[in-house]
Amino acid sequence: PALAERLAGRITGRPARDETVHAVTDVTLEVARGEVLGVVGESGCGKSTLGRMVAGIHAPSEGRVTLAGQPVARDRGGHVTKLTPNVQMIHQDPFASLNPRMKVGETIAEGPRQHGLTPPAEIPAMVRALMAQVGLEGAYANRLPHQFSGGQRQRIAIARALAMRPDLLVLDEAVASLDVSIQAQVLNLFLQLRRDLGLTALFISHDLSVVRHVCDRVAIMYLGRLVELAPAEELYAAPKHPYTAALFASVPEIGRGRRAFHPIEGEIPSPLDPPPGCPFHPRCPMAGPRCRTEVPALGPAGPGRAVACHLEHGGTGAEVAA
Ligand code: SF4
Ligand code: MG
Repeated sequence: PALAERLAGRITGRPARDETVHAVTDVTLEVARGEVLGVVGESGCGKSTLGRMVAGIHAPSEGRVTLAGQPVARDRGGHVTKLTPNVQMIHQDPFASLNPRMKVGETIAEGPRQHGLTPPAEIPAMVRALMAQVGLEGAYANRLPHQFSGGQRQRIAIARALAMRPDLLVLDEAVASLDVSIQAQVLNLFLQLRRDLGLTALFISHDLSVVRHVCDRVAIMYLGRLVELAPAEELYAAPKHPYTAALFASVPEIGRGRRAFHPIEGEIPSPLDPPPGCPFHPRCPMAGPRCRTEVPALGPAGPGRAVACHLEHGGTGAEVAA
């Protein structure tokens, strides 16, 4: 418990200047050292924005993000400076995140070199060790990214992140662009590294089956808000928020293969213009009048669990908020 770190305070994302930024409202999360926290939601729910704020790439317009008590970024007039090398992000597309003209060994060595983490004489050995750790031959260090497969490139991106010896990894759809069999290999590598290194991670994904494989706790986001937070096993056994339940109902049965994620009836409203009241009310089968006017707060729903739904907190959707 002494090691538990307050990761993220109340954070609210700035509205989009570019397409990748979605609104995030009143999200409060903490990640303990050694924990892997999943963040799940549909496209546009703000999970990537949350990840980028945690990684110090975006700054929240309100609230703060801290790692062991220290802010991860500084925002001066919209110019965001990341303040710590101790948070590293792994992106969905490893090809886009690797410099195509730089040998991968150099890519892995770049961060530790710049931050003086590793004496220059030790860098080649460090690169070889990291490549071995992610299951790649050290001799490949002289190759360029295009000479690797997608799965291998993601291994390189993981090695590059680990080279900084981060206290926290943020993985944003880290296996989403890979074939299912390659996804399993990279997830197993992540689990192995987690056991060996005691990684702490925020694991962002739209894929409930991927998250179940690797996460201790899961946060469900909808339209920029946290709607449910629970230990993974309990969430998968019994989701409590109607949105979470609908997400699970939309997951294809085993044996029928995967398909696109088309969860729930009804359009997803714009995160920049969310509906009043509960953001899920236009799609919720349980919605009542109160749901249309009053935003449900995230409140306790059993040990270690929290849910943002009027039904969960003793009310009924049919109650009219005065
Ligand atoms: Fe559905 Fe109302 Fe609960 Fe929102 S607050 S999830 S609309 S029942
Ligand atoms: Mg995203």
